[in-house]
Amino acid sequence: MSKEKVVKEYFIKKGLKLKCVICKETLFWTRETLMNTKGMSFLNLDWANKSATNYVCNNCGYVHWFLEI
Ligand SMILES: [Zn+2]
Repeated sequence: MSKEKVVKEYFIKKGLKLKCVICKETLFWTRETLMNTKGMSFLNLDWANKSATNYVCNNCGYVHWFLEI
């Protein structure tokens, strides 16, 4: 299974440009993470039983994770 890594700028709600909170980089790549884990189920976090998009800083690797976009 090959996944291409697309590095680009992203905009979140209200046109806010995504910017790394650590190094101020504005280029990110994304990955999908399945949030349906035993831990989440145990906590009855039904809203978390779905996939989420992670925005990974292209410079330092810090992961920005939004629950809803
Ligand atoms: Zn960064």
